[in-house]
Amino acid sequence: MQTLPLIQHLIDGQLVDGGSRSQHVFNPATGKPEKRLLLADKATVEQAIASAHAAYPAWRATPPLKRARVMSKLKVLLEENAEQICALLTAEHGKVLGDAMGELQRGIENVEYASYAPELLKGEHSKNVGTGVDSWSEFQALGVTAGITPFNFPVMVPLWMWPMAIACGNTFVLKPSERDPSSALLVAQLALQAGLPPGVLNVVNGDKEAVDTLLADKRVTAISFVGSTPIAEYIYATGCANGKRVQALGGAKNHAVVMPDADIANAVSALMGAAYGSCGERCMAIPLVVAIGDATADAVVAGLKIEIAKMKVGPGTDAANDMGPLVTQAHFEKVKGFVDQGVAEGATLVVDGRGIRVPGHEEGYFLGACLFDHVKPGMVIYQEEIFGPVLGVMRVNSLQEAMDLIDAHEYGNGTCIFTRDGEAARYFSDNILVGMVGVNVPLPVPVAYHSFGGWKRSMFGDLHAYGPDAVRFYTKRKTITQRWPSAGVRDGTLFSFPSNR
Ligand code: NAD
Repeated sequence: MQTLPLIQHLIDGQLVDGGSRSQHVFNPATGKPEKRLLLADKATVEQAIASAHAAYPAWRATPPLKRARVMSKLKVLLEENAEQICALLTAEHGKVLGDAMGELQRGIENVEYASYAPELLKGEHSKNVGTGVDSWSEFQALGVTAGITPFNFPVMVPLWMWPMAIACGNTFVLKPSERDPSSALLVAQLALQAGLPPGVLNVVNGDKEAVDTLLADKRVTAISFVGSTPIAEYIYATGCANGKRVQALGGAKNHAVVMPDADIANAVSALMGAAYGSCGERCMAIPLVVAIGDATADAVVAGLKIEIAKMKVGPGTDAANDMGPLVTQAHFEKVKGFVDQGVAEGATLVVDGRGIRVPGHEEGYFLGACLFDHVKPGMVIYQEEIFGPVLGVMRVNSLQEAMDLIDAHEYGNGTCIFTRDGEAARYFSDNILVGMVGVNVPLPVPVAYHSFGGWKRSMFGDLHAYGPDAVRFYTKRKTITQRWPSAGVRDGTLFSFPSNR
């Protein structure tokens, strides 16, 4: 029997074994197991936490500029090793290489932003808050912090978290997705090469046992999570109950509103990428179009049909392809099941991607683009996150009706509007109950120097991911009030509350 390469953990600067359980990591384009992943047990995760705990005092005491320089070096290393990182990413996730490059670039921009940490960590100072009294606030590191990340952005989402956490003086334990963990591990190794001392960043591979150990351990002060809503809610509730600071980003069901005055050709081409890019496995993907009026809906559906017919589906390693496979066999079955259900629920399946064959890759998890028309609010394919290449078109009569629909949905991650009407766009972006809004921009994913987060059940916690919110999430404010009495001058006892009255 062929022995598959083993994926280990990165603890205290070393690749190590740990845990008696393991599972296969598959190549979704071939359906073949290509690696064996060790699943960390409690003792292994505790070893990683102990390493991060031991590394913390010296790292916290390291001048911010020196910490930030590691990020500057890492940015260069990521650029130099981009091809290798993206090859690993595509081999395990399935997304096309160009998309993997885009993901990596967005991750690099977070590393770049973290390299501004000395500027971002500057406190606030007030002189003479009372006679001879000065006061200032500073932002201190928390200690050992942790991140738990999803399969769909295996490189970028970890880079939303640990570069800023570490640049702020914390140490970190990362638990990447067990479905495609290799690229995050390689990036962590590059961070060591860039100059991170052992123990500052540790990676444990694993599943619920690893996550539950991070949630329970008192040494872990804060947890960042990105994944599905049921797990996000569990992480938030358990982490908070255990006294940790938690930000937990969950699932999504993003609506794109198309107004009758929109440039339909432009909207259609934007929707194609937003619905089917990365096989729909993006939390900011657009799985729903809400067309205002039947004429708009008819034009959008006709345009999408033409564009879908031109799409190329196949392995992500072939630059000619627009869309790769779904991530696992189980996810393939789940997404296909949603398409079956949509048909049974009475939505009109305009384009059926089931049964697609990719020559030479018959065992791969390929599903072609699917397009539904006449999707209705009560349907399961409307309510639930499908996370696959399935786009549904809904028909309503007014912008307000579209907005009421969006506001009533349990998720509120992203949304967008296609229109030429500035007033409508302004009303929409001002009032819609969604965290990230695009105007003629289908995927309004904030850049690294803004923060990312949804509303409603798309996010649990107050501070959003990356950007300025991350600086606040990974630090705690301390306010110091100071007075140096002049020699020989004695303060009298003050029984009343000190004030400037
Ligand atoms: P997932 O919730 O299955 O897994 C995410 C992480 O949680 C993984 O590391 C996994 O090992 C861990 N996990 C899974 N089950 C667990 C359990 N029972 N107890 C403890 N830990 C557990 O998510 P996924 O399938 O990897 O990712 C897709 C989901 O992530 C989608 O819902 C997508 O919308 C969401 N997502 C959201 C954002 C965002 O920013 N809001 C970004 C990317 C992905």
